[in-house]
Amino acid sequence: MTVAVLPASFDPITRGHVDIIMRASGLFDRLVVAVWARPKKNVLFSLEDRVDMVQESLAGLNNVEVRAFDCLLVDLVREIDATVVVRGLRWVSDFEFEFQQASANRKMLPGLETVCLFASTDYVFFSSSIIKEIAENAGDISSMVPEPVERRLNERFPARAATTSAGR
Ligand code: ADP
Repeated sequence: MTVAVLPASFDPITRGHVDIIMRASGLFDRLVVAVWARPKKNVLFSLEDRVDMVQESLAGLNNVEVRAFDCLLVDLVREIDATVVVRGLRWVSDFEFEFQQASANRKMLPGLETVCLFASTDYVFFSSSIIKEIAENAGDISSMVPEPVERRLNERFPARAATTSAGR
C-alpha cells in the first residue's frame, strides 16, 4: 500500500489545491492532506479554521484524510508510514522551491520521493495570497475557492459579501 502526504499551509484551500488533491488521490492508496501549523508567512485563518475548511472541501474523497502537523515533514512521513510527498507545480518559481525542499527532505530521509503534479491550466494562476487579496478588495472569488472557503472569506471581509449580494 502506497501512502502519500500532501503538505501545505492551506490559508485557505483553493480550487487549485482541490484539483491537485483529487488527482493525487487517484494515484495512491491513501493520501494524507497535512495542514502545516506554523507557516512562516502571516496567516489569515487559524489552524483550526484551515483544517475545517480543508475537511469540508474534501468531503466524499474516500482514501483522503486530513490532519494538522507541527513537526518536520520527514517526521510526519515516518509517523504515518508514507513514502511519497505530493506537491503542485505552477510556475518556474515553484520548481525552484520544490526542488530545494525535495532535496532537503531526501537528505534527511533517503528514499523519500517527491512527486510534483503540474497545475491544471484552469487553476494555474490561483494562489491563496492572490485570492485573499481579491476577496479583501471586494472581488468575486466564487470560482476560485470551494464554498466553505467562500463563506468564511465573506465573514472575514463583510464589505465583499455586501457587494456580491447587491450585485445578485
Ligand atoms: P505553502 O507552500 O505555503 O503551503 P501553498 O498552500 O500555496 O503554499 O501551496 C502548497 C502546494 O500546493 C504547493 O505545492 C503549491 O505549488 C500547490 N498549489 C498551490 N496552488 C496551486 C494551484 N492553483 N494548482 C496546483 N497546485 C497548487
